[in-house]
Amino acid sequence: MDEKNGIRITKENIEFRRRLIETQGAEKLMRCYLCGVCTADCPVAMRVKEFRPRRIARLAAFGQRDRLLGTDTVWLCVGCYTCYERCPEQVKVSEIVSALRKLALKEGIVHPTYKALMESIAEMGYIYEIDDFQNEMREDEELPPAPEPDTEEVEAIMRKTGFLDLMEGG
Ligand code: SF4
Ligand code: SF4
Repeated sequence: MDEKNGIRITKENIEFRRRLIETQGAEKLMRCYLCGVCTADCPVAMRVKEFRPRRIARLAAFGQRDRLLGTDTVWLCVGCYTCYERCPEQVKVSEIVSALRKLALKEGIVHPTYKALMESIAEMGYIYEIDDFQNEMREDEELPPAPEPDTEEVEAIMRKTGFLDLMEGG
């Protein structure tokens, strides 16, 4: 066991890092040299002081599963890809966040907000209900009415990809 800058590193941490790096999108994690450019331009970091992409990369490099998956941190990213574009080492924090979410989902961890959004998509085909008001706004923009979703097809896709099973903790 080793300790560095208040971070405890165990065999479990090393194993978690290995799993993370093997997950699509997180392959370049260890290229991060903590320059902080990702944090400087992240729109979420500008508003939420607890959210720091550089810190996510650092904790991920030390395999700090509990500090990453045990909080809301990885669910706050809005996937704007600014960090992806800015990073001089192509570390892609946005993709590391996605990889962390995948690992979280495999452990049955999903933020309640995301769960509600996914349930809406499974039920309605949209993340919110499209009513007459929404379609009137579309009409104002000279857009056709929102298409009627085939919810059976949506659910079938979610089932076939294994997503629903993961959401249901299967
Ligand atoms: S992920 Fe990239 S931009 Fe962010 S701290 Fe690491 S090297 Fe710098
Ligand atoms: S993708 Fe996420 S972490 Fe990266 S800049 Fe956007 S909000 Fe921040």
